[in-house]
Amino acid sequence: MQGICLLGATGSIGQSTLDIIAQHPDKFSLISASANESVAKMAEICHRFKPQRVVMGTEKARDELALLCVDLPTSFEWGSDALDSIASDSAVDQVMAAIMGFAGLKPTLAGIRAGKRTLLANKESLVTAGKLFMDEVTRHNVVLLPIDSEHNAIYQSLPQTSQGAHKKDISKILLTASGAPFRTWSLDEMSSVTPEQACKHPNWSMGQKISIDSATLMNKGLELIEACWLFDVTPNDVEVVVHPESIIHSMVSYRDGSVIAQMGNPDMKIPIAYGMTWPDRIETQVDPLNLVDVTRLNFEAPDLTRFPNLQLAADAWFAGGSAMAALNAANEVAVDAFLKRKISFLDIARFNEKVLSSTNVVAIDVIEDVFEADAQARSLAQKYISDGSVS
Ligand code: NDP
Ligand code: MG
Repeated sequence: MQGICLLGATGSIGQSTLDIIAQHPDKFSLISASANESVAKMAEICHRFKPQRVVMGTEKARDELALLCVDLPTSFEWGSDALDSIASDSAVDQVMAAIMGFAGLKPTLAGIRAGKRTLLANKESLVTAGKLFMDEVTRHNVVLLPIDSEHNAIYQSLPQTSQGAHKKDISKILLTASGAPFRTWSLDEMSSVTPEQACKHPNWSMGQKISIDSATLMNKGLELIEACWLFDVTPNDVEVVVHPESIIHSMVSYRDGSVIAQMGNPDMKIPIAYGMTWPDRIETQVDPLNLVDVTRLNFEAPDLTRFPNLQLAADAWFAGGSAMAALNAANEVAVDAFLKRKISFLDIARFNEKVLSSTNVVAIDVIEDVFEADAQARSLAQKYISDGSVS
């Protein structure tokens, strides 16, 4: 029986993780869960799964939740220290890191430092803390399993050892991208898209922020950086391939010319279950892949002119140091502003570019440097947005 701490339980990844736990009550038990402010959703989770501890983002949300769950033995807490505490709790074997954005970094690291098996959906924590994050994984001898479907596919396509996937004899990583809703749209057409249009991903059902990131291709940019840290490569070793059907979730090309791919219907329950049971596999109730129904798999190169965020991410990687935290922070602020209709869809990449190019890139030596870089870029992005200044 594996005890699970589910960070971000009320989100899209959180829901799919709960589906797997519910399907396999003999294998998994929800020890603890967190959300920011979704009180009603969390109350349902508490009544259904009866976790020992629940952490909300605010005191108000915690108090409201506690009132809805007076009949349960669960302890209700709130705030950042409580999040770190549930991730490092001795009753927990695995931490599912599924908080949205940079807010996921601190509790994910707390779990790693406590030696917990870490299921990483929260790509922003690895993108921003990069080498320090991976150093902590090594120092604490943690099993780190990527949940992002592409990285999970790459992991599955590499030779396995008892320590995890092993990069050996590879010539390239082929990182697939769906192209999201605006793959074939002109810049002119994209200039007036609404948040509702941008959130409608053709293949995946996901939270709002990652859906917008997919539409701008910043998601692929973050994933490029994520792949570099996870598999110890550089952007020169990763080729982004647009594959609109999202059936192949990524591939590894080997020095002998072989290419190994992982395929399946686009459903996050597959990589989540893989992470929770690696090196074994379990049922997920995802429909089996029927290639005859799919009929065609298409591939094309990404268009960096219409989707400049992908290039910005590679630039940030090569700039190193605080550049990746700065780009991520700028993007979180810009996406939030777009969702609130303060800036246009195409402005997101413009603000990202402006913040990245005006960031004084410094070395990241300790984790506090990441928080400093994030805070500086966030306030710069907010200033540019309130000034209405995009170059
Ligand atoms: P959602 O927006 O659906 O859910 C986010 C979760 O995080 C919610 O539980 C939310 O709580 C919580 N949360 C949000 N902000 C904060 C905060 N400041 N402090 C604490 N908790 C917070 O996101 P997704 O599930 O789609 O994505 C989660 C992570 O997984 C992201 O990093 C994303 O990039 C990654 N990912 C997601 C995929 C997907 O298919 N959805 C695929 C691959 C990666 P509340 O409900 O109260 O707001
Ligand atoms: Mg992905």
